[in-house]
Amino acid sequence: MDFAIPEELTALRQSFAAFLEREVRPLEEEYGREFWGEAPDRDRLGPIVRQVTQRSADEGFYAAYMPEEAGGQGLSVLGTTLLVEDAARSGMRLAMAVIAPPNPAGPSPLLLKLPHHLWDDYVYPVVAGKKTMCFALTEPEAGSDAQSIRTKAVREGDEWVITGHKHYITNGEHADFAIVFAVTDAEKRAAGGITAFVVPADQFRRGKLQWNISDWHPSELFFDGARVPADHVIGEVGMGFFEAMAFLNSGRAYIGAHALGLAEWSLDAAVDHAQKRTAFGKPLSKNQGVSFPLARSKADIEAIRWLVYHLAWRVDTEGDALAIMGDASITKFFATEHAYEIADRAVQVLGGMGIMREGPVERVLRHLRMLRVVEGASEVQLLVIARTLGL
Ligand SMILES: Cc1cc2nc3c(=O)[nH]c(=O)nc-3n(C[C@H](O)[C@H](O)[C@H](O)COP(=O)(O)OP(=O)(O)OC[C@H]3O[C@@H](n4cnc5c(N)ncnc54)[C@H](O)[C@@H]3O)c2cc1C
Repeated sequence: MDFAIPEELTALRQSFAAFLEREVRPLEEEYGREFWGEAPDRDRLGPIVRQVTQRSADEGFYAAYMPEEAGGQGLSVLGTTLLVEDAARSGMRLAMAVIAPPNPAGPSPLLLKLPHHLWDDYVYPVVAGKKTMCFALTEPEAGSDAQSIRTKAVREGDEWVITGHKHYITNGEHADFAIVFAVTDAEKRAAGGITAFVVPADQFRRGKLQWNISDWHPSELFFDGARVPADHVIGEVGMGFFEAMAFLNSGRAYIGAHALGLAEWSLDAAVDHAQKRTAFGKPLSKNQGVSFPLARSKADIEAIRWLVYHLAWRVDTEGDALAIMGDASITKFFATEHAYEIADRAVQVLGGMGIMREGPVERVLRHLRMLRVVEGASEVQLLVIARTLGL
């Protein structure tokens, strides 16, 4: 076992950190508070997010994990994991937009399964940060139990006609196209009867924005007889559910890294506050009632770190989404649950500032609360882990 971070990845992290400070920090300081305040001006937010994404794409960070033939850098999962962690640890809200995973607005490796002649429309522009997409699986009647989706696709001549209603779709508001999962064989369903399609935005209707506890708000999408040519299928007809699960599994390292970075940011903020703030004639940190919870957070962070890096290493070396399923669920479950507890301890140490919108941790706590539900709630991860025990 070699636990050392390869030298080239350390160098990459340094240039990414310099990029964040040079390109993102000034915009964060100028616009950050305004955008996520009480009444964010979403018309102004969009262009700033796009600007940051574009700069990151120009410098090769945004979609670095996509293969070179698609315009990416072919960066390993471990390398991408480290950048995702560093973006979150920077504490900058706009840093969410500079690296594609785990944000589904960025290019999905699923797009690589489209026929090559469609890459000009659906692959290269997303890798270059010029278009965004969304991943539309969840429906009002099908969340955790994703195989019970009702959206259906029927073949008519050279086209597929898609009818259904998706909700809670991140970046549904802006996406230029959607990856949509629909039933193509009602009897087979998950066992060969669900297909993934790429559907341009002129074929669907955007419903209401769904305001939630985090600062990133998904949307409803309606497919009222959306038509796409027969070649707009991702992978094979009927294999969409496997594609979706493989994608979500391989992405667990990124959501874990995201939680890790946010936990590190929260602990850094709490340690800083505990050292600087005095009460009863001494720094807060001199009370073990303050230092011990933070020491516990440090221990939790190291446990999350090694789960996340190990999962990334397994995806890089084995690449088999099914083989890593148990580890992927352990990582998603442990990272998001413990990162939430770490942020909650930080809130307590920060006192009133902990729960202020202008403070460093309030929005992180809200975001981490969201991560315990999305992309497979914690209980769904426990279901998978229990199965690995034969239960
Ligand atoms: C902010 C946000 C962004 C999202 N972005 C996307 C997106 O981009 N694309 C997309 O397709 N979806 C997206 N989702 C959907 C998300 O993945 C689902 O909300 C999630 O999978 C849970 O589904 P549900 O909300 O229908 O809850 P339900 O399936 O109704 O489950 C509710 C709760 O029941 C419990 N539960 C469920 N099943 C079991 C079980 N078998 N055993 C024990 N407990 C169980 C869990 O605690 C779960 O939280 C997003 C959701 C949110 C809130």
